[in-house]
Amino acid sequence: MIDAFGRSITYLRISVTELCNLRCRYCMPEEGVCKKSHADMLTEDELILAVEAAAALGITKLRITGGEPLVKKNVVSICRRASKVPGIKEVCLTTNGVLLPELAKPLHDAGVRRLNLSLDTLNPEKYAYITRNGQLSDFWKGFHAAMDAGFEKIKINAVLVGGFNDDEIEALAELTRKYPVDMRFIEMMPMCDSEDFDSSAYIPYTRVLEKLPDAVPAQPDGGVAKLYHLPGAQGNIGLISPVSAHFCADCNRIRLTADGKVKPCLHSDAEYSLKGLSFDGMREQLEKAIWNKPAWHGDLDVRHRSRAGRNMNQIGG
Ligand code: SAM
Ligand code: SF4
Repeated sequence: MIDAFGRSITYLRISVTELCNLRCRYCMPEEGVCKKSHADMLTEDELILAVEAAAALGITKLRITGGEPLVKKNVVSICRRASKVPGIKEVCLTTNGVLLPELAKPLHDAGVRRLNLSLDTLNPEKYAYITRNGQLSDFWKGFHAAMDAGFEKIKINAVLVGGFNDDEIEALAELTRKYPVDMRFIEMMPMCDSEDFDSSAYIPYTRVLEKLPDAVPAQPDGGVAKLYHLPGAQGNIGLISPVSAHFCADCNRIRLTADGKVKPCLHSDAEYSLKGLSFDGMREQLEKAIWNKPAWHGDLDVRHRSRAGRNMNQIGG
C-alpha cells in the first residue's frame, strides 16, 4: 500500500516479546520490563492473522524481533507459519545471538533466511558493561552456530556509542575481512527511559568513515544503510543514520508490537490496536496506520528524546 506521502510500505517488523535475556543500556532499563499479562499480548494465531492482513496490503518482507525474539517459546513456529503466508517473500530475524546454539538450525529450517546479530564490542568486559549481564563468549557461540546453519546472509549490528566503542570501529570492521558478513554501525537513538548518555555518546556515522580511510562506496542494496567496502573484504560496511541524516522519505516499514499495536513510525506514539480483531478489522487498522504514517520522526538528539512512548525492547528495533 502507498502512504499519504507516496511511500510504498512493504516491510513489517514484528516484536514477538518485550522480554530479553540482556539489558543493553541504550535499549531498556536495568530492572527490565513489568511483565504484561498473557491476555494483553497477541496470540500466535492473532499474529499470523495480522501477517495475513498485512500481506493482503502489500507487505512482502517480515523481520521478527523484540525484546529478544529467541526467548519467546514459540518463535520457531511463528517463523514457520509466517514464512508460508501467501505474499510473504522474506522472513528475517534480529537477535542478540545468545540462544542461537539451540535455535539457529530450527530457525533456518522454519524459513528464516537472513539474520542480524547485535554486537557492540569485541572486549568481554565492555560487552558485560553495555549489556549489563552478557557474556561475549555466548555471542560467539551463537555466531558460529548461525554460520554453520547456512543462512543466506548474516549482518552484525553495532550501536555507535561515543567514548565506548568508537575506538573499536576498525576492529569491528575487520570482521568483514575475516567472515562473509556485513558489519553495520547504527547511530544511537535517545529512547524514552534508556540510560542517560551525555551528548558526547551520540556520534554521527561519519565518525566511522574517518576511522576507515580505505573504505570505498559499495552498490546500494535497497536498504536504509549507506554501504562501503574494505579492500579484500567478504562483506560490506553499512552505516545507518537515523539521527544525523534521517531516511524517513524512503522509509518502507511499519512495526507491530508484542501487545498488538501497529506503530507507523518508531518515534511517534501513534498506535493502532489489532488485539482481538478479525482479519477485516486488522486490515482496516493496518490501512489506517499506513495512511497516517508521519512524514518524518522529528529531531532526535540529547535534548529531543524519542516520542515513541516506549523503550526499544517494547517496540522492536
Ligand atoms: N534483542 C535483539 C537484538 O538485540 O538484536 C533484537 C531487538 S533489539 C531492540 C534490535 C536492535 O535495536 C539491536 O541491534 C539494538 O542494538 C538496536 N537498538 C536498541 N536500542 C537502540 C538505540 N537506542 N539506538 C539505536 N539502536 C538501538
Ligand atoms: Fe535485549 Fe536487544 Fe535490547 Fe539488548 S538491544 S536489551 S539484546 S532487546
